[in-house]
Amino acid sequence: MTKQIPSHAQVVIVGGGVVGTSIAYHLTKLGWRDVVLLERKRLTSGTTWHAAGLVGQLRATANLTKLAQYTTGLYATLEKETGQATGFMQRGSISIATNEERFEELKRGASMAKTFGLEVHGITPAEIRSKWPLLNVDDVVGGVFLPNDGQTNPIDTTMALAKGATMGGARIFENLAVRSISSNGKRATGVVTDRGEISAEYVVLATGMWSRALARDCGVDLPLQACEHFYIVTENFPGLTADLPVLRDPDHCAYFKEDAGKLLLGAFEPNAKPWAVDGIPEDFEFGELPEDLEHFTPILEAAMKRLPALERVGIRKFFNGPESFTPDVRYMLGETPELAHLYVATGFNSIGIQSAGGAGKVLAEWIVGGHPPMDLWDVDVRRMQPFQSGKAYLTQRVTESLGLLYAMHWPYRQYETSRGMRLSPFHERLKARGACFGEAAGWERPNWFAPPGVAPVYRYSYKRQNWFAHAAVEHEAVRETVAMFDMTSFAKFLVQGRDAEGVLQRICANDIAVPIGRVVYTQWLNERGGIEADLTITRTAENSFMVVTAGATGRRDIGWLCRNIPEDARAIATEITSSLAVLSVMGPNARALLAAVSGADLSNAAFPFGTSREITIGRARLRASRITYVGELGWELYIPTEFACGVFDAIVVAGDEFGLRLAGMHAMDSCRMEKAYRHWGHDISDEDTPLEAGLMFAVKPAKQGGFIGRDALMRQADRPLTKRLVQFALRDPEPLLYHNEPIWQGARIVGRTTSGAHGHHLGRALALGYVTHPDGVSAELIAEGGFEIEVAGTRFAASASLTPLYDPKSARVRG
Ligand SMILES: Cc1cc2nc3c(=O)[nH]c(=O)nc-3n(C[C@H](O)[C@H](O)[C@H](O)COP(=O)(O)OP(=O)(O)OC[C@H]3O[C@@H](n4cnc5c(N)ncnc54)[C@H](O)[C@@H]3O)c2cc1C
Repeated sequence: MTKQIPSHAQVVIVGGGVVGTSIAYHLTKLGWRDVVLLERKRLTSGTTWHAAGLVGQLRATANLTKLAQYTTGLYATLEKETGQATGFMQRGSISIATNEERFEELKRGASMAKTFGLEVHGITPAEIRSKWPLLNVDDVVGGVFLPNDGQTNPIDTTMALAKGATMGGARIFENLAVRSISSNGKRATGVVTDRGEISAEYVVLATGMWSRALARDCGVDLPLQACEHFYIVTENFPGLTADLPVLRDPDHCAYFKEDAGKLLLGAFEPNAKPWAVDGIPEDFEFGELPEDLEHFTPILEAAMKRLPALERVGIRKFFNGPESFTPDVRYMLGETPELAHLYVATGFNSIGIQSAGGAGKVLAEWIVGGHPPMDLWDVDVRRMQPFQSGKAYLTQRVTESLGLLYAMHWPYRQYETSRGMRLSPFHERLKARGACFGEAAGWERPNWFAPPGVAPVYRYSYKRQNWFAHAAVEHEAVRETVAMFDMTSFAKFLVQGRDAEGVLQRICANDIAVPIGRVVYTQWLNERGGIEADLTITRTAENSFMVVTAGATGRRDIGWLCRNIPEDARAIATEITSSLAVLSVMGPNARALLAAVSGADLSNAAFPFGTSREITIGRARLRASRITYVGELGWELYIPTEFACGVFDAIVVAGDEFGLRLAGMHAMDSCRMEKAYRHWGHDISDEDTPLEAGLMFAVKPAKQGGFIGRDALMRQADRPLTKRLVQFALRDPEPLLYHNEPIWQGARIVGRTTSGAHGHHLGRALALGYVTHPDGVSAELIAEGGFEIEVAGTRFAASASLTPLYDPKSARVRG
């Protein structure tokens, strides 16, 4: 008998795969009973049913590792809780390295894992062989062993989550497709199904590879695309025992798993095949795609070298099934910026089984609490750009995404496909001058400049990469003469109207009720005092403010801004990113150079730090703002796009006399690290407060009317700070820091680095990172010293400072 569908629910989850059922399970754990899950066919019939079931824990970033770690713990207890078998086993896993760089990557990952108690051991080739006796380890340099990694039966695990959810009160409806999401234009209000409408306070899309099309219909962009994904299962494999850990051989794009006496060999090949680019067939259910032995052959051949006995065993099953991939190989979680109360958990890039527990938990907490329960920026749906949903972009990019799971996670690695999406007006000029571009939010930005005779291409390494010396020269130009950066990728918004000042005062922690022509550095805080955004605001007229923020966070920040403009306020926010190109001219000679091309008085008296006004360069009128992210005297120039190239040419022509160099993002990063300028997304996030981040100089607690987050911040001010952002410099000039390295003080791990770079001027690797202590982190505790930072298993002594190591009094900035 068909179950009667409800007309209303507190939350409707669309999609009955491992992810949707996990969200339902976790919502009921939080006490929500009125939870309805709708599945168009049968539970697991999308991608979940055919997963290989690996449940690894070590991910590329700390937070994603924490979520995978939680999943493992959950699956280990789910059967006991629900009475439904899951097939979960903890036989551990081994990842092997066949070269030193891969081994360093694995060891760096193992070091990171220590910061939250995940058990990882480095192992030798002989130890690998003793755990996997049939392996050929002749070319193996070493590996890591995670004894608690697991494997599970994806169907049974999903059924257990579904059972747990129904035990908690959720209702699950199969064979009931959602046709569209209802909304009132601002917020999701329910779903339209085959059998009528269900109104809901919250709608959650956990619809796997179907998500992009369903979301597009209600104006929401979810860039993901299905790709073919392969494994084979052999006939009975003599000598394979049931206690074997999962084996990953990332250098050969393969994983090996014992499966009821057979071998399951899976692939993460570098050139994936997009599937169903024009839409998933309506009747797709427990579907398989045609085999493609030719595509799989390189993996199979390499696997035969790793496991020679494989040559003598027949293949029983060649499996090809679709899975959705995203442009940056990270899943999408959270409330969509386009529609409030529409949440998503989708695009799991072949790690949906191992991610589902953690992702389901934090998404449920996000829905119930109204905010992410931890820093989830890595996977936050707001990082995505609308253009990424384009078919041409996506189908090309996902050919690369799939392979990146097992590719080297090189520092500064750049995508190779779907490049050139967003070009600044200076692009061709920069290219002609040797720019090697990197991509951020689709923007092509020079990361470094190759001198004549040097090819502008990356040679990756965990050691000094080929651009290191060139970026050092750019860095020194910033410190000694003058350098120019293309910062067009900044996101820019105008906030205008009679109430603009009042609205922004409420959103900003700093005081923005300033005279026209002042630039204010400020954070936007949430109600918990956490930093939602870190940006500058320039008052350009009585009722007009220009907000400038990073390109990568533009979508998130304008979303926050718009949601905090009260309905009845006379204020509107408009994105003006495309209308202004930006050049940043920084260094001790910046004043002389810009005075020469503009004729303007740029003296301290006429143009002090933190001010902004219009000047003329060549034939262009533009806005010059005296601020810096590199810790030197300098100006950012906001130029109407159509005038931009003329301004660039004028500065470059005049620049020779002043020692001008073009500089890229690597030099900018190393300069900002010397000055300990924070970077949102690394050093500061929605779970860090200005007190913890050392940013109270930009907060005005006493300003009239208060601001969002003030009360939480003041409450925190009354207690000892249990974590504080500290700048570190390694004593040994050789090692390099990236981020996520453990910070030791004596015998205790006290935190991990949030960002790292070599400071070319200071001549040492630098990092920022939070030091924690349950009784409070005092200045005395930092002064005690004894800090070390662990890099790939080796600890290096580090000095620590609460004030910037470079120019702590900002004399150069104000000079
Ligand atoms: C060959 C292969 C091997 C894999 N191995 C592993 C592994 O070892 N470990 C691992 O962690 N991951 C693995 N994965 C990935 C994993 O299977 C997926 O990431 C995971 O299953 C995704 O789960 P999901 O719930 O997001 O999607 P799905 O399982 O696809 O669930 C989405 C559901 O939404 C339903 N739906 C869609 N549209 C609607 C609608 N309009 N109305 C109602 N219902 C709708 C669909 O029918 C579907 O059941 C593998 C994938 C493949 C292809």
